Amino acid sequence: MQVFKFGGTSVGSIENIEHVADICLEQRPDVVVVSAMSGETDRLIQLATLIYPSFRTPEYDLIVTSGETIVAGLLSLALKKRGINSCPMTGAQAGIITTDKFSEATIQRFEGKAILDSIQKGILPVITGFQGATENHKITSLGRGGSDTSAVAIAAAIKADKCVIYTDVNGVYTTDPRICSEAKIIRKLDSSVMLEMASQGSKVLHLRSVFLASKWKVPLFIKNTFSDDPGTEIIQNQSHSIEQVDNMNQHQIFEEEIVTGISGYDQDVLFTAKTNLTLPQFFKKLSDNQINIDVIHHQINLDLPQYLSFTVNSSDFVRTQDYLKTLVGDDFTFQDNIAKVSIIGLGVRNHSGVAARMFNKLDSLNIPIILVTTSEINISCIVPKSDMRSAIVALHEEFISP
Ligand code: ASP
Ligand code: MG
Repeated sequence: MQVFKFGGTSVGSIENIEHVADICLEQRPDVVVVSAMSGETDRLIQLATLIYPSFRTPEYDLIVTSGETIVAGLLSLALKKRGINSCPMTGAQAGIITTDKFSEATIQRFEGKAILDSIQKGILPVITGFQGATENHKITSLGRGGSDTSAVAIAAAIKADKCVIYTDVNGVYTTDPRICSEAKIIRKLDSSVMLEMASQGSKVLHLRSVFLASKWKVPLFIKNTFSDDPGTEIIQNQSHSIEQVDNMNQHQIFEEEIVTGISGYDQDVLFTAKTNLTLPQFFKKLSDNQINIDVIHHQINLDLPQYLSFTVNSSDFVRTQDYLKTLVGDDFTFQDNIAKVSIIGLGVRNHSGVAARMFNKLDSLNIPIILVTTSEINISCIVPKSDMRSAIVALHEEFISP
């Protein structure tokens, strides 16, 4: 069984929708999931916020998920025109039950029975991505970019053999091709590397979809709706032991580079607060306010007040500022002219000196490193936003295309 998902550009016009219907006629997927036409969700959000600037309401989710509803209807019509027995389905009709955290709901329960029934009757379900419903039948949205997550959840629920995400690029690249002309496509990618790339700013897939695919072992493919390029395959179920990774290298399943991808992200703000609160006290309050923290730096000198630095997404900027005012008064500063550049790859964990090479390279370009953070397969540096592009190009040259 195959689930195909088509993104906003792929269904961005009637002409494109007809083209997607042709792909379905030729490839015969068992389930189709759609996004809204590109730009439509932005337009709907703008309409909603013109009247009332709150995200956490049922009205907001009803409005912003309507773009997907329209496309499901249009595509189903285009399929019918080609003699395919199809039926549009909302997220709710498909059985996706979510929390009531409007604008960013998460899936709580999903059995896939409605979808399987439809398939069994020979009817191709064309399902709205991005949408679910609460137990009480209120329509919810899964967060921006969430239709990838819908597609992977559906694939997991019906135990599909394949989930293909059709988009407007050929696949996952070693870095953003718009920033670095040397960027090349990655044909096969370990899911843990993809997860790291998605969390560090690669925008090809919704982070939660990568997480779900890896949790439920959904074979995931990324392909271009507008070309025949074979695309990128995300490989699940790889062991995380060094021996096995080395083995796979010998079988050339993976490319040999230490670093698979370089990513950049410039939508974070760095806050620094002076406080006497303990770390648990401080961060408990932030998480109670549903503020997501990324990089944390904590400096303690026993006799002096402690300094805490952390980054948050710029969408949480105002809430974080308000919260810090109540907590530490004026004792905080922020920097919004920062970016995070990351090098990501399975080889990072079993090669020494990778961080030193990264710092050296940035240093040779006089790029100041404001903060550093590492995980097993990623090293990230916070640098000035104005240096992000040159840092990416230089690190790509250093690690990927010397
Ligand atoms: N249409 C939604 C958005 O633009 C969901 C998606 O396309 O994945 O965020
Ligand atoms: Mg998307």
